[in-house]
Amino acid sequence: MHGYGVSKGLCYAKVLVLNEEAVVFPVEIGSPEEEEKKFLDAQAAVLEETIRLRDRTNETAGENAADILDVHCSLLKDGGLINPIKEEIAKQTGAALAVERVMNEVIEQFEAMENEYFAQRALDLKDIKDSLIRKILDIEKADISSLPEPTIIAGRDITPSTTAGMDLKMVSGLLMELGGSTSHTAILARTLDIPAVVGVKDLLSTVKTGDMVGFDGETGEIFLGMNEEEIEALKIKIVKQEKERSKWDMLSGRPAVTDDGKRFEIYGNIGTPEDAEKVLDRGGEGIGLFRSEFLYLSSKSLPDEEKQYEAYRKVLEKMGEKPVIVRTLDIGGDKDVPALRLSKEANPFLGLRALRLCRQEEEVFHTQLRALLKASLYGNLKIMFPMVSSMEELLWAKEKLKQCQDELRAEKIPYKEKIEIGIMVEIPAVAVMAECFSKECDFFSIGTNDLTQYTLAVDRGNEKVADLYTYYHPAVIKLIKMAIEGAHKNNIMCGMCGEAAGDPKMIPLLIGMGLDEYSMAASAIPEVKKWMSRLNTEKCKELAEQILKLNKATEVEGMLCKFYIQNNIEAKER
Ligand code: PEP
Ligand code: MG
Repeated sequence: MHGYGVSKGLCYAKVLVLNEEAVVFPVEIGSPEEEEKKFLDAQAAVLEETIRLRDRTNETAGENAADILDVHCSLLKDGGLINPIKEEIAKQTGAALAVERVMNEVIEQFEAMENEYFAQRALDLKDIKDSLIRKILDIEKADISSLPEPTIIAGRDITPSTTAGMDLKMVSGLLMELGGSTSHTAILARTLDIPAVVGVKDLLSTVKTGDMVGFDGETGEIFLGMNEEEIEALKIKIVKQEKERSKWDMLSGRPAVTDDGKRFEIYGNIGTPEDAEKVLDRGGEGIGLFRSEFLYLSSKSLPDEEKQYEAYRKVLEKMGEKPVIVRTLDIGGDKDVPALRLSKEANPFLGLRALRLCRQEEEVFHTQLRALLKASLYGNLKIMFPMVSSMEELLWAKEKLKQCQDELRAEKIPYKEKIEIGIMVEIPAVAVMAECFSKECDFFSIGTNDLTQYTLAVDRGNEKVADLYTYYHPAVIKLIKMAIEGAHKNNIMCGMCGEAAGDPKMIPLLIGMGLDEYSMAASAIPEVKKWMSRLNTEKCKELAEQILKLNKATEVEGMLCKFYIQNNIEAKER
């Protein structure tokens, strides 16, 4: 079997298939007495499971985390909910459908109330409804928050929020039927250093829970039904891979300097404060992208100012003097946040996403900016706005930041006055207008993941068009060049935090076009540093000139491969 390898590494472990298929309500149902019994049995079983989970959570994560499960227990015993379900069953409705109908009505009432507390209860009720229906219909739901052994998680579409809620110490790999190479699940896997393959056709009809499977997260190959000998060989390769990795890690403390002495800054991309440690371990000299929305994906409620402040402060303190670029919320597209209750859109990547969403949910943006400003005292913070598509948006965001500064000053809450402000260049309009935008900010960071999808009109998460998605496309390369030149016209720094910055083949071209800073998954840092040390900047400039004359993505990739092979051999010979 084959898919797109999106996060490097070999693995071999037992599979757990996530069952997230839509529920089908049975047409044939029993008598009202039988259906009521099914419901009451399910209610008792779910209650028992919830009590057990609450006790375990209390021990492992503390009282606050367990509180939410206490609420679930009370709701499960609430006559105001149980009795209407029984009444619905008495009208000859199947138990599962009765739960669906009655609870949906209550959920809608809660959702209609413009109040954070009731919005939270609506989410709790959805969880309970889901558990009850699955219990009645006897549909297994895998618990991935605590896994007993190393496991490969397989699913049709494993969302970023599902990934964020996994027992990551035990996840050996991810396999998905859907998805492209820069879907956010793929990026999250790379950030977490978990091997992953996406876009695997017929995965779920072939692989079952409990199967032992191996795969290669680089080539996308999946190994099924291996014999003893093949398993042994794969295990030996996995050990070798670990050794190779630690050898590179030992070299990663050195700065990134080309063969002719030009020094570059190599930063890491992170999703949680804990990831900062990995960036330092692999030799990262700063954080070029903190995807702050990942703080929101795994929690059922929006983190308040204090919680966010703690998270930003933790990263800043960990990184000391090193720069930390925090990107404000980039929610929407393929990243949903249940607590915001976003409505479904026909084209979410072209819709209410990132800064656009923040303009509608001003309170959420305001809370984040205040938390960032307060944390700014603890390190070298820079703030970056995502998905900017117009000057109005950038000016609006800057104005909001200024308002928050005024507010804190009036409240006598200290913050750092001088904070650099930057934008992601990930929409073609901004690359084209780069010179204007660079007058209004202190730095750019090119987001090739979105720049590619928006330039080529190819959904980054859709496996059906994954073969059309490539940042080697000459149009994408030209836009990158425009962004760099636009930045330099007004003497601001231009970095890149899209996946292209961690692709060794792209590095000589990016150096040749004048890119200043490179930010990538921590796991990519040692290889990029090693590769940079073998490059000559003049040769890179010549390469860029030749590449900018090409018309096809395949030609661009071909020339970059050739350059990579030739220079690698020359460097080894030297
Ligand atoms: C990008 O678009 O290249 C980027 C870095 O942002 P994200 O992948 O989070 O959209
Ligand atoms: Mg982006």
